[in-house]
Amino acid sequence: MEERIYTKTNKGTPQGGVISPLLANIALDRMIQDVSGAFKKKDAPTIIRYADDFVVLHENIEVIHRSKDLIAKWLLKMGLELSEAKTSIRHTRDGKDPGFDFLGFNIRQRKVGKHSSGKTGGRISRLIGHKTYIKPSKKAKDRHRKALKKVVEDHKSIGTDILITKLNPIIRGWSNYYSIVSDKSELWEEDYQFWHVLRGYANYRKNRKSLGKSMENLFTQKDGRQVFRSKGNNPKVLLKHGDIETRIHKVIKPGISPYDGNWVYWSERRGKHPETPTRIAKLLKKQKGKCSWCGNYIMPDDQLEIDHIVPRSKGGSDKYDNLQVLHQHCHDCKSALDLDRYP
Ligand SMILES: [Zn+2]
Repeated sequence: MEERIYTKTNKGTPQGGVISPLLANIALDRMIQDVSGAFKKKDAPTIIRYADDFVVLHENIEVIHRSKDLIAKWLLKMGLELSEAKTSIRHTRDGKDPGFDFLGFNIRQRKVGKHSSGKTGGRISRLIGHKTYIKPSKKAKDRHRKALKKVVEDHKSIGTDILITKLNPIIRGWSNYYSIVSDKSELWEEDYQFWHVLRGYANYRKNRKSLGKSMENLFTQKDGRQVFRSKGNNPKVLLKHGDIETRIHKVIKPGISPYDGNWVYWSERRGKHPETPTRIAKLLKKQKGKCSWCGNYIMPDDQLEIDHIVPRSKGGSDKYDNLQVLHQHCHDCKSALDLDRYP
């Protein structure tokens, strides 16, 4: 549709187009329900799907085989085919090459002693004797390293500050994506790998000087570490993967979406999220998850600010009874009114 005019088309959406994951989500939405619904509740596998990528988890291989058949039949009904080449059945812990890749992550389990063992969770939690490891997959790491290397190769003659401007968003994006599960060593490893590429760049740029001189020119010592940076009027510093903070992810309840109108759930989740600062969490609880300015529930990605009800400049205190949490834009409106109210 363009300018509200609908044009009929018989072409499909190109694979990898921006809308294709959404279409896949709509088309495959019922698959999980239908397939797990075919089992008795206690035998049902866990199925996790994103767009047209999915994993089926169960301890019993028979359940896995049956799920595969059910999925193939379900897809056939939709005019789709389960790709044999892209489907594999793996053990998460035992045998040769255990574990599997999903959405750029590698997931596997290892046997461990009782002190590091995972737990079943639930009311009567017991040890399961192994631990789950989630890391960037080897393929994802190779892709990332190649991408960085290509940027360096494509820009090696242009100038270090442009090169850094091109590299930083790639480093930030990758590190953010993996910051949820990776321990720092995974991110540091990328910096270590990339250092060799940067050294190659220094060698290329040495221009009849020694490699050592060229390195000195491009790297500087900061807090005991080597930092890659440009010089000149507008110096740029190369981001390090390891500088991105790793985060804890709080799992979303299955079947819940920010658009389903379950505002209470989402505002509570925000309040309990490990990354929500204590002050905001306390105020959210007091305000029952609503912004005190517009009265709407606060959504997971809303930008929030803490407001002094009576401004600090007018003698308002920094205690909880003079504080409220507001949407960023509501805070702007309130501050503008404050100027009128307290001239
Ligand atoms: Zn608001």
